[in-house]
Amino acid sequence: MEKSVRLNRQTINLLGVNIDILDTEALGRKIIDFAGLDGKRSVMYVNADCMLIARRNENYRRILNDCDLVYADGAGVVLGARLWGHILPGRSTAADFMPDFCRKFAGKGLRLFFLGAACGVADEAAARLRRDIPGLRIVGTHHGYFTPDQEEEVIAGVNKAEPDIVVVGFGAPGQEMWMSKNRRALNAPVVWGVGGLFDFLSGRTRRGPRILLDNGFEWLCRLFTEPRRLWRRYLIGNTTFVFYILWRRFIAPEPGKS
Ligand code: UDP
Repeated sequence: MEKSVRLNRQTINLLGVNIDILDTEALGRKIIDFAGLDGKRSVMYVNADCMLIARRNENYRRILNDCDLVYADGAGVVLGARLWGHILPGRSTAADFMPDFCRKFAGKGLRLFFLGAACGVADEAAARLRRDIPGLRIVGTHHGYFTPDQEEEVIAGVNKAEPDIVVVGFGAPGQEMWMSKNRRALNAPVVWGVGGLFDFLSGRTRRGPRILLDNGFEWLCRLFTEPRRLWRRYLIGNTTFVFYILWRRFIAPEPGKS
């Protein structure tokens, strides 16, 4: 099994993307560590859809490989890794772990900024978390539908709030491109991409029964809630991803790739 240790990272390489081998608890510890260190770090995730985009989009793949931590957010990636002969401890899904992480962030006095989703959603997500977690410092929110002309103003607003962690939820790969392009301009030690997290935390999007979520069927629940937007991603995307892995591993391996 190919593993590489880089900057204290243990990663696997799946279809050209380096993915950290760590469980959810270790992910939380790393984010807290990053927030306390000098320098700027970016945290990103991958699911099956992201992996397919990264196959086609070299720029996105480079951004993922240049960032400081990439975690598996989808059961598809964990399954894909396994088919490739790698073991990942499991998926880490922000909608599950965020309340617990926020308790830990609150304990450390860390300041968060929520950036993304439709108007009012990040605000609602922040209000719910603040209500449940006394002492949690969400120092600002902004929706994710600003124009390139407004970008400078949005970034100035984020910096003015002086967050330790900027949580960015624009969906992949837009958020990763945005994070990479604006990493220098954002002063926070940590910038972290979370996709549609604010929709879930605000309660605007429901997640589905626990038994499905815990057994690799979150995609099915999401498909039911937004079939028109997501059928292609899940029905075609997930299947393509699994077949692509099997194809590359057993039938037509790319020379020099493991
Ligand atoms: N979004 C945004 N700005 C945009 C496009 C999308 O803030 O220009 C938000 C959208 O409202 C949603 C999230 O990005 O909250 C995308 O969610 P999705 O579930 O597609 O994320 P992914 O599955 O890619 O992680």
